[in-house]
Amino acid sequence: MTGSEAVAAQVDARTAELATNLSALLQRVDAACLAAGRAPDSVRLLPVTKFFPAADVAILYRLGRREFGESREQEATAKVAELPNLVGQGAESDEGLPDVQWHMIGRLQRNKARVVARWAHAVHSVDSERLATALDTGAQTALDAGERTGPVRVLLQVSLDDDPSRGGVAPAELARLAEQVAGSKALRLSGLMAIPPLGAESDAAFARLATLHTMLLAEHPGATELSAGMSGDLESAIEHGSTCVRVGTALMGARPITSA
Ligand SMILES: *Cc1c(COP(=O)(O)O)cnc(C)c1O
Repeated sequence: MTGSEAVAAQVDARTAELATNLSALLQRVDAACLAAGRAPDSVRLLPVTKFFPAADVAILYRLGRREFGESREQEATAKVAELPNLVGQGAESDEGLPDVQWHMIGRLQRNKARVVARWAHAVHSVDSERLATALDTGAQTALDAGERTGPVRVLLQVSLDDDPSRGGVAPAELARLAEQVAGSKALRLSGLMAIPPLGAESDAAFARLATLHTMLLAEHPGATELSAGMSGDLESAIEHGSTCVRVGTALMGARPITSA
């Protein structure tokens, strides 16, 4: 076997692995929707590709996926730039491929908001007024520079355990933050996100999140997204109204190191 044949064989093997995992996962999501009495197309699967190379994202792209979730700014920014070359299309803009939507799902520092605003279709982890302000400024700059064409969709990350170190706005502060984002020119309030507290019953956490989402929708009917559920708890999240499950491990395999 030549070197390039060996590389091609590796790509084929990874493609087969990801295709198998993907179809199992889509069946899991469908089954969970059925069990919850919800339409299968009411829940989107967001592949989380953090810690995996852009080559894997390219394989998922060829398998038909167009949305990807990343949690670390530097890693994501590099992948966004690399993907167009890997799938054989020149980048049209800093947003990367025109038909791909990148989601920032991890904790975001204010000084990274400008960079993320170049490529992020949505940010799931907005949890403070200062971060929202920085993201709005970054998004406006990106709009003015022609680096993006629409507002950054914002999901407010809610803390369900009152542990500030894990991120998320306290439920008592949610309404005020939602008002701010809804009034920001370069942002669009899309919904809520949460990660269940470590060691907690995910069912109870997702039930609480659903209540907060209902309250938010009463004030902001357009904020329909509920980003909840990961590899281990997506059935419970779907039962409680998730519209977007963020799945890493069950699709990509184990990460080399785990992240917060
Ligand atoms: C890594 C990550 C996920 C995916 O978690 P898995 O358990 O690997 O499916 C989902 N959401 C966020 C915010 C993450 O950082």
